Amino acid sequence: MGADNTHSFAPAIILFGSPGSGKGTQAKLLRHCLSGPHISTGDMLRTHIGERDEIGAQAERLIKAGKLVPDELVNQLVERRLKSRDCDSGVILDGYPRTRNQADVLLRMLPVHQLRPAVVHLVVDYDRIVARLSGRRQCPVCGTLYSLKTNPPKVAGICDLDGAKLVTREDDRESVIRERLHEYDVQTVPILNYFREAKVPVFEISGAGASPEQIMQRICGTLADSGLVDSGSTSGGAAATDAASETSFS
Ligand SMILES: [Zn+2]
Repeated sequence: MGADNTHSFAPAIILFGSPGSGKGTQAKLLRHCLSGPHISTGDMLRTHIGERDEIGAQAERLIKAGKLVPDELVNQLVERRLKSRDCDSGVILDGYPRTRNQADVLLRMLPVHQLRPAVVHLVVDYDRIVARLSGRRQCPVCGTLYSLKTNPPKVAGICDLDGAKLVTREDDRESVIRERLHEYDVQTVPILNYFREAKVPVFEISGAGASPEQIMQRICGTLADSGLVDSGSTSGGAAATDAASETSFS
């Protein structure tokens, strides 16, 4: 890249995490050390679909036909979003990039907007995710969710509110969860490797064994240690302990 003045660029934090890793929670909590907006391509597409504009209509047609929204359209959405002034101090990207092509386009557009990329990969042991999600039960009558471990019903298998027999949702069956985790790996591993090859810092951060706030401190501490965010904004730093209960990740 020649003479490197990118150290003065604001951070573009690219957030990865499997289903059940707590990624959505962290995307919001990271405001603690990053002042820029949380950019979720999924949310952006839903907004366009809701507003029934040209992009929304195109996306809706594809999704209804069971097709993926093409890279080009998603790239355009992100490119347009990065032009906003509120991105000057940095951004958190969530759900993007999902393909190698998107990653490639992103790496070319970030310097144009004086942003420099870093990947945060929230890592949680899959057996823990399966144990937590497969321990959920739902009332088919009122919809209340229970967790066998952290929030069990008063009488096993029975809804506290209306006495209905609790069921396991299809999405919470172990085989379904394992399949989703496998799909995540198949999609994500090549993109992480692509970033590593492109010399983008990739931080693997444990998303387990602590409260969401402590995990946020881990992430912010790591980013501060790498000079990506001001260290002043992270009270507690990277050394958050693992002492807290493991039940609070979401
Ligand atoms: Zn109920």
